[in-house]
Amino acid sequence: MNVILLGAPGAGKGTQAAKMVQTFGLPHISTGDIFRKAVADGTPLGLEAKRYMDAGDLVPDEVTIGIVKERLAQPDCAEGFILDGFPRTVPQADALNAALTSMGTALDAVILVDVPREALVERLTARRQCRACGKIYNVMGDMPADAAVCDECGGEVYQRADDTVETVTNRLDVYDRNTMPLVEYYRERGLLKAVDGARDVDAVFEDVAAVVRGGQRG
Ligand code: AMP
Repeated sequence: MNVILLGAPGAGKGTQAAKMVQTFGLPHISTGDIFRKAVADGTPLGLEAKRYMDAGDLVPDEVTIGIVKERLAQPDCAEGFILDGFPRTVPQADALNAALTSMGTALDAVILVDVPREALVERLTARRQCRACGKIYNVMGDMPADAAVCDECGGEVYQRADDTVETVTNRLDVYDRNTMPLVEYYRERGLLKAVDGARDVDAVFEDVAAVVRGGQRG
């Protein structure tokens, strides 16, 4: 099953992807996580990506597309994958189609995790994340026993630099401008499955899992 999780920053894509990994064992490819790791490791990619990320802007398409193509060529993607945070622009979506075609495969579904914009600012500024394993927490009611220490792995729980009020507004504007057109793009291609993301995590996951089960091959 080759699936994209589409949705605004804060819609819950990462949380749903983590549950999909547990349930379906598909590899989770998050371009945001790849960039954050590169920043933490201080690689040339990280140095380039950081200035865009800190401002809430998109990393240039040619950089992002190259990274995803490399990742999709890894053997663990042969049976399927979950793309989270990619594509975010029409050129990225076109490049993904071309890459999958040349690999002899195609997308099975694009799941839109739909959350009204009003709810997103609140969610994003309340979000905390484990620096080590990426687990997502929320100060409004889902924090580890010790607020700074991840329950799962003992890693440091922190607030992403781009989850501050100032950057969040730009990220949502960037989403509206660059990524929203992909909703129509995939609807026209008969791939779009919208789920109501403004519910609790498990209710959203029921719908997400139903899409995956419905689209599994063989
Ligand atoms: P995310 O964790 O998906 O919210 O991504 C964090 C940041 O990484 C974004 O605000 C962008 O600066 C960058 N980024 C992640 N995915 C992409 C993408 N597909 N295209 C361009 N930039 C991206």
